[in-house]
Amino acid sequence: MKNRQPDEIKPNRLSRRNFIKIGAATGASASVLGAAALEGEKDDALTEMAGQATLRPWEDLPFQITEKCRRMEQKYTGFCRELWDQEFVERIMLVGKKVDRVSLQKTDGWTALDRALNAAGWALDHKFASGSENGQPHSQAYAWDEQVRRQKVEFSDAQDAARKVKKAARFLGASLVGIADYDPLWTYATLVKIRDEEEESEGPPAFDTFVPEFPFEPRSVVAIAVEMDYEGIATSPSSLEGAATGLGYSHMASVGYSVATFLRELGYRSFALGNDVALSVPYAIAAGMGELGRHGLLITPEYGPRVRLAKVFTELELTPDKPRTFGVWEFCKSCKRCAESCPSQAISFDEPTLEGPTISNNPGVRKWYIDPEKCLEFWIENGSDCSNCITACPYNKLDLWHHQLASTATGLPGSPLHSLMARLDKLFGFGNTHDIRANTAFWK
Ligand code: SF4
Ligand code: SF4
Repeated sequence: MKNRQPDEIKPNRLSRRNFIKIGAATGASASVLGAAALEGEKDDALTEMAGQATLRPWEDLPFQITEKCRRMEQKYTGFCRELWDQEFVERIMLVGKKVDRVSLQKTDGWTALDRALNAAGWALDHKFASGSENGQPHSQAYAWDEQVRRQKVEFSDAQDAARKVKKAARFLGASLVGIADYDPLWTYATLVKIRDEEEESEGPPAFDTFVPEFPFEPRSVVAIAVEMDYEGIATSPSSLEGAATGLGYSHMASVGYSVATFLRELGYRSFALGNDVALSVPYAIAAGMGELGRHGLLITPEYGPRVRLAKVFTELELTPDKPRTFGVWEFCKSCKRCAESCPSQAISFDEPTLEGPTISNNPGVRKWYIDPEKCLEFWIENGSDCSNCITACPYNKLDLWHHQLASTATGLPGSPLHSLMARLDKLFGFGNTHDIRANTAFWK
């Protein structure tokens, strides 16, 4: 396809990719943006159905879920809004027109070498799971109806099954894996399906919304985390950082599809999901993999927020793990490094609330809401996505001595101490963003 200028780009498919194209560049932090919304007009039948859907807050999750929390509609997520929210698209395009890409592409982190790595990182995702980053459900590696072996392999009990599935997931490339019960609360009430994916069509493509009906009733969810490259993410916000993110998406598709295939070969209907169909962070928390941070991302003890999340819905009953807290909530109250490092002021400095600032925020959960509109606007201005909030987070460390800084402080009470540990982390030179040395160092 020929290169197009930002003002020529038509919103022709669901996409993080297209958003970046509007700014005319590369690759992501969709888990930040994926946390989107349902609290707009409730005047069509689908929305009404969504509102009446079963709501079963998990009392044992380490955050408060109120009656206001409803199943989200996918069309309110940041990337889907390019399909119908003209005012938002125009705002994004205006930002893209101001960017000087010619100068940008001469700097480290944006060179042809860096952009080639970006394309390579995303390659597997684009080839086999291009629906996932954009949220197109039931497609490619994330299709719902792959063949299942007729003969079922039996396990002695659900615990035995869980143990073996987790072992298989790690073998197949998961950095972290946990099990949660299926809960419809985290599945989008309605999904978006593009009718015509013709690249050159004028204007936004037509799309339908539909209530998801899976070929089976999911019982368990295998929550999967894949680590993203530390040095790549450290170059945020750059095209190199997009390479690390893209590779994370490619691994999500690979591991998710492989785990779902393993389960299908055992005789149990199963399918993998990326960012489509259902939220990932609540499942990862329920599965004991980590906690929610101020930046809206999962924080794991092992990699901090430097992971991408996938999941597998299965009819096989698996004993769920328990959510676990390790003090992140308290630490975040005094840390705020992600908010300080966010170039678009999309992350809150304030106390947790029950609702966010835009229609792409799903209300009803007490947490720190980010502003997905500001975040996306920065991506366009930047010419690539951004992981500043991951890079800056004191939990984002390799497993070395300094990793212990945040984890030690986490286990101790008292906000002054947490504040001090966050500052020390910075003094030791960790978590810098917009650091040109990280781009140069990457290739050495
Ligand atoms: S640092 Fe801010 S702009 Fe960058 S991804 Fe995080 S929320 Fe978005
Ligand atoms: S940077 Fe600090 S405030 Fe932000 S999520 Fe990480 S620990 Fe919490």
